[in-house]
Amino acid sequence: MNISESYKSFLKNGKTERECTCEIIRLAEEKGYVDINKVSSLKAGDKVYVAKWNKSIALFHVGSLPMENGMNILGAHIDSPRLDIKQNPLYESDFIVYLNTHYYGGIKKYQWVTIPLALHGVVCLKDGTTVNISIGENPDDPVFCISDILPHLAQKQMEGNAKEFIPGEDLDIICGSGIVDNGDDNDKKKEKDSAKKNILELLKAKYGMEEKDFNSAELEVVPAGAPRDLGFDRSLILAYGQDDRSCAYTSVQAILDTEKTEKTLCCLCVDKEEIGSVGATGMASHFMENAVAEVIARLEDYSDLTLRRCLNNSLMLSSDVNSAYDPLNTGLYDKKNSSFLGGGIVFNKYTGSRGKSGASDADPEFIARLRNALDNAGIKYQLAELGKVDQGGGGTIAYLAAKYGMYVLDAGVSVLSMHAPWEITSKFDIEEAYRAYREFLKLA
Ligand code: MN
Ligand code: MN
Repeated sequence: MNISESYKSFLKNGKTERECTCEIIRLAEEKGYVDINKVSSLKAGDKVYVAKWNKSIALFHVGSLPMENGMNILGAHIDSPRLDIKQNPLYESDFIVYLNTHYYGGIKKYQWVTIPLALHGVVCLKDGTTVNISIGENPDDPVFCISDILPHLAQKQMEGNAKEFIPGEDLDIICGSGIVDNGDDNDKKKEKDSAKKNILELLKAKYGMEEKDFNSAELEVVPAGAPRDLGFDRSLILAYGQDDRSCAYTSVQAILDTEKTEKTLCCLCVDKEEIGSVGATGMASHFMENAVAEVIARLEDYSDLTLRRCLNNSLMLSSDVNSAYDPLNTGLYDKKNSSFLGGGIVFNKYTGSRGKSGASDADPEFIARLRNALDNAGIKYQLAELGKVDQGGGGTIAYLAAKYGMYVLDAGVSVLSMHAPWEITSKFDIEEAYRAYREFLKLA
């Protein structure tokens, strides 16, 4: 299977960070990677993974050189913008049953109404069991949807500011309905909220959950449906979650396909990037450091100095997407410093906003080494910024890795309609990203 086809199946199976972690573990185990908790010592050639709460994962392919020489690290994130179900979400209003949500990451709220939505996640019950939920992906599954005002009554809405005309609090998904009770036949008068009660009975029968169990659930609402080829020529991919699974998947596949290595290789796929890399599973946590420490402790007598030298001497590609130049919105881009669909992998020396705030400024010496490696391998790349100066901006995990002293460069795939429910990438760029990551892993 070629890389764009296997990428599409990764996107189909991984619609949340948890599902991506499961899928990465499955792919890694097929290639001989084992859970680090199952091994007490490591040697050159061994392959292990460290997972945190099923939401972040680090793969390691141990090389023959000492750890203090540093590693080649590919780092990406596997969380994507979405709607999260609130902790007390279920309500009925005028015979329609809703689940209340709170959005996650940077979204344009108006893009999320009137499209089919799926529900993915877990409900953790008090008896210690975790119930997995995935509804809306199979063709015969039901889906969910947020309604919108018909144009005939939208005069006032259409005059509003795009930021406000779909208020965040109104992003509630329809999950059921009842039959209207006119109240004219008292004998048959239904009890209040009977449609909601019906939904609760269904949830009880199917998942063994009560209404209170939403308190300990983590349910994510994402666009329903599998990735699709886009265009007569099928040159593009239309899919949810390509920021940043386009980089995560190609990075994972690059390390899995590397057979032999002198330097130790690492591929990190972390959570929470879209809300600032926070929490125990985000890049600002000690996850990477702890994972590397576990590897060192299984290779030699553990020393903190070895860990620090290892991180300081490492090379990293912070693999995250860049906004693709949009021919319909040329005014937002500095064309000569933009990345194009079909232009190959994108390197960003710096990201950030308002004078590069939040950026990790990559070293030109490191960029030159990569240019040389990619030119020699005939891989197409482009150096770009997100958009015009002072039009906006964004960050990645690069600055959080750079604090250890390692060389870090942002490198990824161009995405059109980034952060929309359905994002667009080019198959050629997916291929070039994968090839570039493979070359990077070979750097001495
Ligand atoms: Mn990203
Ligand atoms: Mn993003």
